[in-house]
Amino acid sequence: MDKRTFLKATGALVTGNMLSRFLSAEEQNAVRKNWAGNYTYKAGHLYVPQNIGEVQKVVKNCDKLKALGARHSFNSIADSTRNQISLKHLDSMELDPKSHTVTVGAGVTYGQMAPYLDSHGYAVHNLASLPHVSAAGATATATHGSGSRNGNLSTAVSGLEIVKADGEIVTLSRARDGEKFHGAVVHLGGLGVVTKVTLDVQPTFTMAQAVYENLSFSHLEKHLDEIFASGYSVSLFTDWQNHQATQVWVKRRLTKGAPARFDPEFFGAKLATRNLHPVTGHSAESCTEQMGVPGPWYERLPHFRMNFTPSSGDELQSEFFVPREKGYEAILAVEKLRDQVTPHLLVSELRTIDADDLWISPCYRRPSMTIHFTWKPEWPAVRNLLTLIEERLAPFDVKPHWAKLFTVPPARLNALYPKMPAYRELLRQYDPQGKFRNEFLDANIFAG
Ligand SMILES: Cc1cc2nc3c(=O)[nH]c(=O)nc-3n(C[C@H](O)[C@H](O)[C@H](O)COP(=O)(O)OP(=O)(O)OC[C@H]3O[C@@H](n4cnc5c(N)ncnc54)[C@H](O)[C@@H]3O)c2cc1C
Repeated sequence: MDKRTFLKATGALVTGNMLSRFLSAEEQNAVRKNWAGNYTYKAGHLYVPQNIGEVQKVVKNCDKLKALGARHSFNSIADSTRNQISLKHLDSMELDPKSHTVTVGAGVTYGQMAPYLDSHGYAVHNLASLPHVSAAGATATATHGSGSRNGNLSTAVSGLEIVKADGEIVTLSRARDGEKFHGAVVHLGGLGVVTKVTLDVQPTFTMAQAVYENLSFSHLEKHLDEIFASGYSVSLFTDWQNHQATQVWVKRRLTKGAPARFDPEFFGAKLATRNLHPVTGHSAESCTEQMGVPGPWYERLPHFRMNFTPSSGDELQSEFFVPREKGYEAILAVEKLRDQVTPHLLVSELRTIDADDLWISPCYRRPSMTIHFTWKPEWPAVRNLLTLIEERLAPFDVKPHWAKLFTVPPARLNALYPKMPAYRELLRQYDPQGKFRNEFLDANIFAG
């Protein structure tokens, strides 16, 4: 009997263990870790269905389950006590030029989607620093790129197809479901298993990026908005020493036919004359082309190329959202900890993100600036530093990135999200028995 016939024949009586017979030994038995290797998943089973019918059966027959995306989160957010499900075989991509949307299977990464879109003359509005994450996993956690007028990647979601706890398929759309949709887009994997995501697209565009070296933080006191608005997407990197950003990455959209223009100086910072990696001493080979060379949007918006290890690899990450108008004060607050922070740091990055209406997006109704830390893999020291940093940033109503490392107590976290009670209610409505609840949701959402 083949797998499909078996599943059909056994229907609702199929147990987790029986289902698992149909998965490869490698996927079943290997110790599974996240991308950074700092987190080992506790879930004993990983299901890798071939199609939506199999997804429904797995969902129906597991009492505890969590969807796993491309494993790029740094904490337990994608884990479950018993079972995980990978949607990697759901890799369809369907462009709808009429509605200016693309609908992709939950297994599709931005790295797969972008060349497809571009070859058809389209683009998404922004990308994260790396293209390796899945659209379903990235939008579930409010993953963002940079750009003061760019909302995070979740703001491009206009539709979701979800298998709910009872195995039924439901669709949600921005046009039809109004406020409920705003609650469902950033869902932290708590609503069910997303099988398809629909994203807004726009006509493709060309970009160029240039890097400036050594921008004094003093310019941020009066010109923070101007500096971050100097490109479509702007990132400042720092090691927190010498009151400066060691690098400023300015990514500009090009108007057809017009050459890229980058002045030799930018607020006293000098235009780099070679490609650079944000982390001192790392080869720029893994980074997207700089030096003002024009290229497609998807080869300029991320910092890292698809076929290379992004960032450092052996690292931890944390990121904190503060209101943009308090950005400079927040930078100064962290800078005071520089001599404790720098020894454990690979690099920090400052970015801006527009406000949105998504209930548990850290940018909910708040234009934001983020302070990101790529740490050396030194968890005990990093954990202590996180508590210190969070204390210093508490006066700015700091919100941590859901998918990175933080120690903010749940009660404080919950108080920062006015829509948290409504989000909890939505989770209960979709998943009354708590099938998709895990340690992360219990600790950070339900315990608050
Ligand atoms: C090197 C590196 C660079 C990064 N850069 C950025 C950045 O620039 N900006 C930023 O904001 N973040 C960044 N991140 C964080 C990353 O974008 C998030 O962790 C993102 O959520 C990872 O997506 P994923 O596909 O790996 O999903 P996972 O990490 O596997 O899962 C994330 C969440 O999505 C849920 N999920 C995944 N798929 C589904 C599904 N089909 N149905 C229901 N729920 C699902 C999971 O249950 C989990 O809750 C970076 C991470 C790394 C490792």
